This record gives sequence, C-alpha cells and structure tokens, in this order.
Amino acid sequence: MTPIRQEDLIGSVADALQFISYYHPLDYIRALGEAHAREESPAARDAMAQILYNSRLCAEGHRPICQDTGMVVAFLEVGMEVSWADATLSLQAMVDEGVRRAYNHPDNRLRASMVAPPYGERRNTRDNTPAVVHVSLVPGDKVHVKLAAKGGGSENKSKFTILNPSDSLVDWVVKTVPLMGAGWCPPGMLGIGIGGSAEKAMLLAKEALMEEIDIHELKARGPRTALEELRLELYDQVNALGIGAQGLGGLTTVLDVKIKDFPTHAASLPVAMIPNCAATRHVEFTLDGSGPAELTPPRLEDWPDVVWQADDKALRVNLDEMTRETIAQWQPGDRLLLTGKLLTGRDAAHKRLTDLLTRGEALPEGVDLTNRFIYYVGPVDPVRDEVVGPAGPTTATRMDKFTEQMLAETGLIGMVGKAERGPVAIEAIKKHGAVYLMAVGGAAYLVAKAIKGSRLVAFEDLGMEAIREFDVVDMPVTVAVDSRGGSVHQTGPAEWRVKIGAMKA
Ligand code: SF4
Repeated sequence: MTPIRQEDLIGSVADALQFISYYHPLDYIRALGEAHAREESPAARDAMAQILYNSRLCAEGHRPICQDTGMVVAFLEVGMEVSWADATLSLQAMVDEGVRRAYNHPDNRLRASMVAPPYGERRNTRDNTPAVVHVSLVPGDKVHVKLAAKGGGSENKSKFTILNPSDSLVDWVVKTVPLMGAGWCPPGMLGIGIGGSAEKAMLLAKEALMEEIDIHELKARGPRTALEELRLELYDQVNALGIGAQGLGGLTTVLDVKIKDFPTHAASLPVAMIPNCAATRHVEFTLDGSGPAELTPPRLEDWPDVVWQADDKALRVNLDEMTRETIAQWQPGDRLLLTGKLLTGRDAAHKRLTDLLTRGEALPEGVDLTNRFIYYVGPVDPVRDEVVGPAGPTTATRMDKFTEQMLAETGLIGMVGKAERGPVAIEAIKKHGAVYLMAVGGAAYLVAKAIKGSRLVAFEDLGMEAIREFDVVDMPVTVAVDSRGGSVHQTGPAEWRVKIGAMKA
C-alpha cells in the first residue's frame, strides 16, 4: 500500500488552484494565438488580443485571469492500493481545505463565489467551498487529481438532451450553440458527453473539458474513429455559425470540441454539452506518496507576442458629462474608451434596488443614477497596492429583467456588461434611448488596470456584489446595443455566418 499524507493532498490542491488562477493552460494559449492570427473580423480580433494580453499580464503578475475565479470541480482517481494512514478528514473535506487555503491566499486572494443554500438565502460561504468532488476507485497505488475552476458564465450555458437513437446529434449541437448566446465567453471549448444515463452524460462532458486542445493535430493526421470524425464535423459546423469571439461575429467560436462516450440503453441517446470559456482553467497532478505535487510554471516566451493597445480610432468618452443626445450618436460596434465615474452593481444589488423602487422607498445614499452608467461586475478583492482586483464584466442577460424599471425610474442611461442582451432589455433600451456597452469577458486584469479608484457606496454586506463607484481611465468597451435597439450580437454573427458560407463555397 502507498501511504498518501492528508497534507500532501490538501497542499497540492491549494497550490494547483493558485496556479490555474493565473496560468492559462499552454494548449489554450497556443490555440487562441493561432486563432487570433487567422481572425479576419476586427471586433473579434480585438477581443482575442485583449484575452491574450490579459493572460500574459496575469502570468507575470500572478493575479487571476478572470474576476470569476470559478467553482472548483475535482476528479479524483484513487488507486486501490493507496492508504490514508494519517487522514482525519474525508476526501471531500481535504479538497475543501485546499480550496479554502487557495482562495484566501494573502498574495493572490481569489473571489469567493459559492453560496449556500443554493435556494433561498444564498449566503456566500466566504472561502469558495465546497468543491464539487467526483471520486473513482481505480487499480494502482497512486492518486490522480484533475482540477478545474469553472466560471459561472460558461457553466450556466450547459445543455442536456436525450435524443432518439436515430436523431442527428450534429443537428442538435448546431441548433443549440446559438441559443447559448455569448455569455460563455467564446472562444473556448465544447465538452460533449454521449451515452450512459442523464447524470453520466453530464459527467462525461465535464471531464472531456480537462483534455488538451489538439484539433489541429487531428485535422492534420485525419480521423481514425467515428468519434474523431464527429469532433471534426462539430468543430467545422460550430465555427461556421460565425458567432465569433465574445459573440461579436468572426471565424473562431470554438478552439476544440472534446467528446467522451459510454454505452447506453438501446432506447436512448443522452447528449450533454458543457462549454469552457476564455478563462479555461484546469490542471492535473499525481500523488505517489513522495510528497506534494510540483507544478512546472510555463515559460512566458511561450505566450503569443500580442500586446493589446487602445485603438487610435476608439472614441474617448467622458462619463461625467453624459447626455442622451451624446449617446444617441453611437452606433453598434463603435469602440469607446471610458473615463470618469462608473457605478457598479450586479444581480443582488439590482434585486435590492428594484425592491426599494417598487416599495416607493429612496435608494441608498450615494446611489444617484441620473445620466450615469452602471457596470455589471463583482471584482476580486485587491492585494498589495491594487485599487481593485481583476474586474471584468459579468453576463448582462441576468440583469435583463431589471432593465425596464432601472431605466424608467432611476435616470440611468447606460449599462456595461458582457455578451448579448435579450429582447426584453433591448426593447427597454430602445424605449428609453439608453445604450448597452460590452467589455471583454476573460480580460479582467486588463480591465482592472483602467480602474484608478474604487469607493464603496452601498450594500457592503453583499461583498463582491456591493455597489461601488469606480474612477476609470480609458476603459475599453464596444457599443453592443445602441439607443435605437440595434444589437451587434445579432448583426455580427449573422454577417460572419454569411461570409464563412461564402468562403467555404
Ligand atoms: S471568462 Fe467569462 S464565463 Fe469564463 S469565468 Fe470569466 S466571465 Fe465567466
């Protein structure tokens, strides 16, 4: 029997979670670098440049790639000849202790995003525990651990169906991916699980996302199995949808499609699909009884030589002098650099604000939204001399149901978030002559560099969801919905789908 020390597992989990918070996997960075070089859509290319540059800054600065530092998912393969001689904790508790240490690391505090219970009070557990832990017993005398920190934006887009055995799986994927919008921060990967039972298919899809990106090698050598053929077909067909980076329209939506399968019932064809986002974060290590795992840091020279700089053609905008007349001149796709005061607020703050409005009560002191913009963000806490930690945008569609009331009753004229807006929000934006701007999801550290001041304004108890006032200088955003209701997330993919079709023809 190989004795594995409890502390070796806990310490390895903690180190690995810190590691993946600031180092993208190299296969992802290489694939994104190649996609950036190939990309012909200027908006998508700019978004990819931001993600790549952000990635390098995070690797250098050891700060999180994204403000959503993820829910921890762990797959543990435990050898049957392993003993846990000094263990006082369960495997779940050991992993949780590793999560606790990693997320509270004083030099690189990560954002705690887990809430419990999930229905009802939803209180933040403050240390990002518990992790979602899957354990399997396998032959051997080692413990192999696969760890991921999965962002909520991409996890929320997970899909599942049970097809008839004669149905086309490709048709289902191609029909379903556009319904996912851009809240999963493409370009990323699709993990697909085929077969088993409902829960087995979901697990297969999640585990598939832990594999390396190698679609170009597969293309070069040609498929040898039906599943490899399927991967190539899905990769081509999904990219032909023209969704592009951040849903702006472009050549690359997915960098790879990974598939795992399992035998299933003769009556069923379960299919699960889980996307991985621009903040793809996963790592593997093995414990063999000789001590904690040692992870080799990647070399910065391996990052593509992409430096993002504010575009000369971008319009400089003073947020402190905004009027409806000014914003009415902006067109979908215009690139802006924002300077001035920007209030923050996301799900919980919107709920509280709209509850106050509904009851006819005053908004908290300092929350005056007249002619102001609100930024949908939940930043990471600052460390050292930082004003704020990584502070990228969160998915705007979650705020859609509050938008009409916010625009009608507070004087708010603009919102900043990520990905598309739904029909209800677009209608409200049009009705009130407001605008919606998008920042790049997965470029949170780069965005934070534009934030020069941060002041708590209201709802301190909400933690990362509290309302703050940021002082920003040249914060890069794109007009995603203009005051007439024109949406770049509708026009961009439609335009690029046609272009890609023409290229193929
Ligand atoms: S890249 Fe987008 S989906 Fe991924 S964790 Fe960040 S905000 Fe969430």
